Amino acid sequence: MKYLEEIDGVGAKTCLFLNKLGINDIADLISYYPKRYDVLKRSDMRNVVDGEKVIIDGVVDGQPTIINLSRKLKKIIFRICNDKNMYNVAVYNQIYLFNELKYGMSIIVIGKYERLKNTIVASEVRIGRLPDVPKIESIYYTTSGLSRKMLAKYINKALNGDFECIDYIPSYLVERYNFRDKKWSTFQIHNPDSVISLKRARQRIKYEELFLYLLKINFMKYLNGNDKNAVVKEFSDNDVETFISSFDFELTSDQIITVNSIKSDLRSERRMNRLIQGDVGSGKTIVAFIASYMNYLAGYQTALMVPTEILAYQHYENAIKLFSKFGVNCALLTSSISKKERKELYDEIRLGKIDLIIGTQSLIQDDLQYFNLGLIITDEQHRFGVRQREKLKNKGVFPDVISMSATPIPRTYALSIYGDMDVSNIKTKPKGRKEVITYFKKNNDILDVLRMMKKEVDLGHQIYVIAPSIDGEDNSIDNVKKLTEKMTLAFGKICKIGMVHGKLDNDEKNKIMNEFEMGKISILISTTVIEVGVNVPNASMIVIFNANLFGLSTLHQLRGRVGRGDIQSYCILLASDSCERLKMLERCSDGFEISEYDFLNRGEGDLFGVKQSGDAVFKLANIKKDYKMLLRVRDDVDEFMNVLFESSEYQYILNYLGDCCDLS
Ligand code: ADP
Ligand code: MG
Repeated sequence: MKYLEEIDGVGAKTCLFLNKLGINDIADLISYYPKRYDVLKRSDMRNVVDGEKVIIDGVVDGQPTIINLSRKLKKIIFRICNDKNMYNVAVYNQIYLFNELKYGMSIIVIGKYERLKNTIVASEVRIGRLPDVPKIESIYYTTSGLSRKMLAKYINKALNGDFECIDYIPSYLVERYNFRDKKWSTFQIHNPDSVISLKRARQRIKYEELFLYLLKINFMKYLNGNDKNAVVKEFSDNDVETFISSFDFELTSDQIITVNSIKSDLRSERRMNRLIQGDVGSGKTIVAFIASYMNYLAGYQTALMVPTEILAYQHYENAIKLFSKFGVNCALLTSSISKKERKELYDEIRLGKIDLIIGTQSLIQDDLQYFNLGLIITDEQHRFGVRQREKLKNKGVFPDVISMSATPIPRTYALSIYGDMDVSNIKTKPKGRKEVITYFKKNNDILDVLRMMKKEVDLGHQIYVIAPSIDGEDNSIDNVKKLTEKMTLAFGKICKIGMVHGKLDNDEKNKIMNEFEMGKISILISTTVIEVGVNVPNASMIVIFNANLFGLSTLHQLRGRVGRGDIQSYCILLASDSCERLKMLERCSDGFEISEYDFLNRGEGDLFGVKQSGDAVFKLANIKKDYKMLLRVRDDVDEFMNVLFESSEYQYILNYLGDCCDLS
């Protein structure tokens, strides 16, 4: 069996419903696992407490009655006799039961027991009796038009047919973990004999999902390693050294290691696909510029794509400063330039007059053509979707790719999200960088906070103030507009105060950011628009209101806005109540450790500020919950890669990999 129509009773209409659930063939149907399980077990009515969920069976006593509560809301009431005890049953809006239920009929009632009224408010009434031994029932998520019961029926018909079920776990691993086979496991997941069997079956299926996933990544990496399509870029070490020695600082050891990796990536005939992870301020951007310079020396264009216009502008300014003596032509491409300017810029890019193009999403507009794009760098890359990255990639002739992220993530997780990338970590801090001192304060201590702020302003330093929203009704949440008023009241007489947020137009935003950078504005109140990349070394304090509303990684990034010069800097986290998560930030300043903590304690969506659908590739496994298994699978896959090509036994796995990985 392969197609849904081969199942008895499944016609075109049912197929449509199944398609809606993402089920397109028998294989999909069989791996459409239950959303959850219920245990069908007779409740001991002597021991139930008020409001508890109960399951009982018995016979209908007397005729049901309909009560019209309103035009839309109807209730059916009847009595059920169980073991000589009588209970009232109330069911809402399942009017069909009125005709179905007959005096003396055996039924099962599932619902909540209200002791005072001796009534079960039923969520479900079924005809029949409960099994003598408790039964585990699979509950499927379905769509209107297709009942759970019907869906379960089709799944079971498929399971009992002759479906193809290939075991992808190599036999020596099956032995190592004492797994049952896949067919058994699939059966058990849909119709568990016991909780123990169910657990065992789930482990088996999860393991295979993770195994195949990591195997695909490793296989792609292997192919990539043999992908000789990339351009070999030629440039001299001396020229690169001259550029690096023009900086007024020395590279940290991790920066040097990363630069060297990039150097050999560019020179190799294999395409570079490298992720650079490091805390804000660890010096990723400068590494990106060095890479751009190597690429320039080799004669190719570089595109640097960032998530916000503010950041694009800042990178552009830095690039001009760095490259002015080195002949690299830089351009800034944002959505705020005029049509005429855009056309001119497009022409220059197409003709190869621009070497480094910095911009936002505008870098991937369809009508923009490059002369010879050789390197693509995305900053804070997790903010771009995979599709956008692909779009950019397609614009060059086999361009090399560097992605930068200030939200470091555990290695395995990076692997599972970014797939076949190589990863460079920049952990060492630039010399002389002072640790930012972090304080957690309760809202009641606001006077303390204001005093601390005053001290910094008096020293001529600058301050960021962050609020979670721009404006809003909710009085318990501070917003940018209200805070601006308050700060003006407190500090308006001694210094200039500015405000930026996402609703301002770009000109205004840039103007204010500029004034802050120039030191004209002392206190800048903003939303998280400044979250990424902004660099003002004279800023020595960041005060974050309602800090509890942000993810730890976001807070850590925000904290990275300060401590960029050689002055002692502070981060103040404000919240109404004491909070363990926030206290963790007082003690810890290592972005890798923080993301690990975040990762293990919160949903992975929060980790990135945007929802990652990393888990959508798994039907059963969950990267966070099954993290330990993932680590084990990773080692197993590494081991397996050594034998994959050795034995004909694994030919079917190679076929599978060839089918899923695009070999073109
Ligand atoms: P990131 O992109 O990782 O947030 P940046 O590259 O923007 O960090 O660096 C932050 C600041 O530190 C910049 O002003 C940069 O010039 C400076 N910097 C980078 N590397 C070093 C270093 N090795 N020593 C001293 N300062 C550095
Ligand atoms: Mg940066």
